[in-house]
Amino acid sequence: MSAIPLHSNSRKTILELQQENERLRDFAELSSDWFWEQDSNLRFVEFSGTGIDRINRSRSDFIGKKRWDMPISSSSYQDMLEHKACCEKHEPFIDFQYDIYDASGNLQRYSVSGTPIFDEQGKFSGYRGIGTNITELQRAKAAFKESQQQLAQIMVGSPIASFVIDSNHTITHWNKACEVLTGITALETIGTKNTWAGFYDKPRPVMANLVLSGALNEDIKRHYGNKFRPSALIPGAYEAEDYFPHMHNGRWLFFTAAPLLSEDGAVLGAVETLQDITEQKQQEEHIIHQAHFDSLTNLPNRFLALDRLNLLIEEAKRTAKKIAVLFIDLDDFKKVNDTLGHALGDELLIQSATRLRSTIRSSDTIGRLGGDEFIVLINNLEHEVDVRPIAENLLESFRDVFKLKGRELLLTSSIGISIYPNDGEDPETLLRNADSAMYFSKNQGRNAYHFFTEDMNKGIERRLQIEEQMHGALSRNEFCLNYQPVIEVESGRVIGAEALLRWNNPVLGQINPDEFIPIAEQSGLIVPIGYFVLNEALKTTKLWMDKFERSFEIAVNLSPLQFRDPTLIQQINKALDTHRVPGHSLNLEITEGVLLGNQQAVKTAFADLSELGIQISMDDFGTGYSSLSYLRNYRFHTLKIDRSFMMDFETDSNVPALIEATIAMAHALDVDVIAEGVETQKQCSYLQSKNCNYAQGYLFSKPVSANDFEDLLT
Ligand code: C2E
Ligand code: CA
Ligand code: CA
Repeated sequence: MSAIPLHSNSRKTILELQQENERLRDFAELSSDWFWEQDSNLRFVEFSGTGIDRINRSRSDFIGKKRWDMPISSSSYQDMLEHKACCEKHEPFIDFQYDIYDASGNLQRYSVSGTPIFDEQGKFSGYRGIGTNITELQRAKAAFKESQQQLAQIMVGSPIASFVIDSNHTITHWNKACEVLTGITALETIGTKNTWAGFYDKPRPVMANLVLSGALNEDIKRHYGNKFRPSALIPGAYEAEDYFPHMHNGRWLFFTAAPLLSEDGAVLGAVETLQDITEQKQQEEHIIHQAHFDSLTNLPNRFLALDRLNLLIEEAKRTAKKIAVLFIDLDDFKKVNDTLGHALGDELLIQSATRLRSTIRSSDTIGRLGGDEFIVLINNLEHEVDVRPIAENLLESFRDVFKLKGRELLLTSSIGISIYPNDGEDPETLLRNADSAMYFSKNQGRNAYHFFTEDMNKGIERRLQIEEQMHGALSRNEFCLNYQPVIEVESGRVIGAEALLRWNNPVLGQINPDEFIPIAEQSGLIVPIGYFVLNEALKTTKLWMDKFERSFEIAVNLSPLQFRDPTLIQQINKALDTHRVPGHSLNLEITEGVLLGNQQAVKTAFADLSELGIQISMDDFGTGYSSLSYLRNYRFHTLKIDRSFMMDFETDSNVPALIEATIAMAHALDVDVIAEGVETQKQCSYLQSKNCNYAQGYLFSKPVSANDFEDLLT
């Protein structure tokens, strides 16, 4: 108002003055706040604006009174005293708040701000100011605070370890259960970044099988990279496991994170939970160790050794160096075993392993292929002749006598060597050729080593013969199926059968599937043969379902190559239709090999199969990677514990515990278990006591023809 030109007397200026006044009056009247003025005695002289209604009062309640004459709540006395002191000193004030009783006796909270006014001589002439009713605002704030407190309490009290981060990954909440689980207090974590850097001993490599779904929100990808995948357990949430390194106190954690999204979908942060899966992890590692290491010598087994060879080949492709594969077989070991007994035989194998191990450098690989066969891998070779001194040293290491329980024994070995890339470019070929070279050494009088040469490979001839015969075998009707019953352990009832392929060839005779199936896979013939198996098995199943008027589950083995056939789903669908067998009566057995490679295609196939109601079993569990993460990532209905477990059941004291752990973990993931190769009642009783669902093996029946199987059903 000080801008109003007081000394002007032109008509235009007076008009302007009136207009200015009207504007100010309108503003004041329309405002939800109110304006007030006090004289030099601090008595109210003026109120303007309708805002005063908002505290359910009229201006006459105030005019002529002092502020401290108003009916205020006792909680506001102190504030009022301060306010009074401030006014008596003629100081400006901002946002003094009181609870004042309105005309109906309800408390209203309002806020006042004011400025002292002075006349031309500088003498104090009163106050002018503004008042606002903030009752609603105050209530909303209190309610908000309360609900926040409640949410925080729910989180803090939750038995599930959980914490909250904001969009900068800064931890904002850290509950009691988190403190207990990690040993790290909320005080230490809240406000720090969720980088995990301080949590863990040492970083671990990222597991390759963590897939990032295409449907993942871009924002989440930005925040988490590919650490998380959509959770199978909690829709809309994400989980990460194996990705994170061990925690500082050596526990394994399983993470889930549910994003906190704003209304427009931006990530505000996340609620994360931690689960201690250390025990499960240890069991898993135990199983993996068992699957990768030979329990007698603790050397890498065949699987792991070939896996390492694979890695070395990848490396050699880059470095253009050579690799030597040494196949070592102890001479006359069988004789020792038969005459001195298995215990001494085992002892001899352990001592041999130790000698071989100490002959090579620690960076070279040694593994036990089985029986008395060992493998040594030497990489980074410039020339193949560089392996000669190593082979000589290995033979030399057997020069000294072995001392076994007071006996002295002299033993020699025979070695065959194949070289990458000259003698093969994949582990299987290199191993086969080293094996041929080893036989050559044996035939040459033992205690010797030889490099592989092409004409050593008589085995190849048989392979070629099998492949040649296989080409017309389907049309000549040489294939048929045998059926092995699957027994429900608890009831002893036959619930279904596994269809197993048999081949009787006029030239080669009866050929073992273990011999011809790999050849069928390599030549691609397994695809048409596989569809023959499927149709034949479904035809027989339908026959039995009708004849015996009961449900029946038929298990059919599917090789990796078949699984990758783009027409697979269509063919299965057609076969189910043709034979009028419901999808849920079909169980497809696949091995882990299927799951390597194109993850998206596998996921799609799984989804399509389960849409048809078809069940999927993981076959030969315990022989490959044996990664339980497959069971989490793919919906398996059944896990088949490999026959090798039953073979070692009585001799290896580790095996029963491994079987038990496998069953427990499969059940935890809602997966049924079939034990394969059950041959004794003792094994069966053990399985029963551990709640194994189904069993298969010679104890119940060998695989038999369809006709003989009917007898089992009646
Ligand atoms: P698999 O799928 O693990 O099949 C189980 C094998 O264990 C069968 O050998 C069966 O005869 C044998 N077996 C079952 N119970 C016992 C037992 O108590 N003791 C012993 N010692 N052995 C038992 P089989 O029939 O020789 O088949 C060998 C492999 O050939 C199968 O292993 C499977 O991988 C493959 N195979 C067989 N039929 C097919 C087929 O139609 N398609 C494909 N892709 N593979 C097949
Ligand atoms: Ca099988
Ligand atoms: Ca199997």
